[in-house]
Amino acid sequence: MPAATGPKPTGPVPPGPVPPGPTASRTEAETSAARGSRRRRRGGASEAGAAAEGAPPPVPTDEGLLVPVDIARAQARVRFDTSTRQADVEATVELRVGDVPGRPLFDLRQEVDEVSFDGARLPAEAVRHRSTGAGADARMRAVDIECEARSSHLLRLRYRLGEPAATGANPVDWAPAGDGVRFDLWMSDLEPGRYLEMWLPANLCHDRFSLELAVEVVGTDRPHLLLANGEVEEGGTRRSWAVRYPASYTSLSPMLVLAPVDEVETARSEARCAGRTLEVVVAALPEAAADVPAAAADTSAWLSYFGSRYGDWAHGDRFLAVLWGPGRGMEYDGATTASEAALEHEIFHSWFGRGVKPAGARDGWMDEAMATWATASSRATGARFASAELGLDEAPVELRPAHPWARHTPREAYAGGARLLSGVAEMAGGAGRLRAALADWHSRYGGRAATSDDLCRHLSTWCGTDLRPWWDRYVDGGRPAG
Ligand SMILES: [Zn+2]
Repeated sequence: MPAATGPKPTGPVPPGPVPPGPTASRTEAETSAARGSRRRRRGGASEAGAAAEGAPPPVPTDEGLLVPVDIARAQARVRFDTSTRQADVEATVELRVGDVPGRPLFDLRQEVDEVSFDGARLPAEAVRHRSTGAGADARMRAVDIECEARSSHLLRLRYRLGEPAATGANPVDWAPAGDGVRFDLWMSDLEPGRYLEMWLPANLCHDRFSLELAVEVVGTDRPHLLLANGEVEEGGTRRSWAVRYPASYTSLSPMLVLAPVDEVETARSEARCAGRTLEVVVAALPEAAADVPAAAADTSAWLSYFGSRYGDWAHGDRFLAVLWGPGRGMEYDGATTASEAALEHEIFHSWFGRGVKPAGARDGWMDEAMATWATASSRATGARFASAELGLDEAPVELRPAHPWARHTPREAYAGGARLLSGVAEMAGGAGRLRAALADWHSRYGGRAATSDDLCRHLSTWCGTDLRPWWDRYVDGGRPAG
């Protein structure tokens, strides 16, 4: 998402000349070996028996261990009744415990009414929130049943959708006349519990799982529009939909916006992007006060520009943007909900943030650092493509929170992260070299996940300098890496 001040609209910047590739010691053999091994480690479904890769460690308690799980599949029915202004959810999650036995962890920031686990009813208290040691906001739910290592389970939950118990979350937005509803997943990196777990049972963002939703609006004849970055099948009445998100998605991937059709203005265009033609859909709510065809044209231009500068598109054959009022913006896989001013920043995230995804919830700083460095044009975050010497004597900055169960991106990721990258640009030989290094980063990790340490190694190669001391001071705040 954009910095609070938000990047100013500037129009696309024409692609610059491509600087030469790295001349440092990285050999072709090293490159292909590293790629192969990363693919095996992070490429697809996790290995049998393991909790999803990148999971934080088990949490000891007086009753035993709370253990991370691998979610394979989640399904939910969501029914919005505009006459009673009530939304009800039935959700089912298939989960697998890893190599360590214990009580399975997941999260959901709603009040649960009914629970069943492997077909047996449990009191709602049996899936209460528990501390993971990373602060109250980072709490997780645990199923209060000791499960064997490598065992598979079915969790079913029923609940009414309320305002999610997470900082900055918005409730379902019912039309005052009772004849419509607006709903937006409205995620954020900046606060714990602001991904899919606001609305549906989910894992932390290291875990890939498929998600199928059946969405229905009842109590009104008014047609609604559902916009999502998954496969959407409309039921014929414009009040029911089946939505399928791919198994490559994590809890920070899915975008979904629901609104009455008559409140949405839509413009379509095409973009030539990294050798393919993308369908571009830009939809705007009235408060966006946007010139929607112009926003669609800008979106196409930015997609083409980023494709030529940073490489292949990792999100199928479409880009979807929903325009809201000022001060809002969030990136999703090949999609965004954003103010017009934040569009460039959010589209950039389809390469860095949702093209290369953070391997864990503490790695989100990388995406904001890159997006700020490459798209910022406000005084608050400095000029884009800055290159300025950075010694090891400036004040330490913490961009990666220390605790393994921490799950937010510090706000310092924008300005502090961009400052770090301006120093890296200087060490790499200038902004052009760092932009080439980012394109190389995307070619290696696009469609997959990467850690803060992966980025340190990658940029060290491009700089010909071991950047670990800079990461220790300006990523880990001067504490030992963890
Ligand atoms: Zn951002």
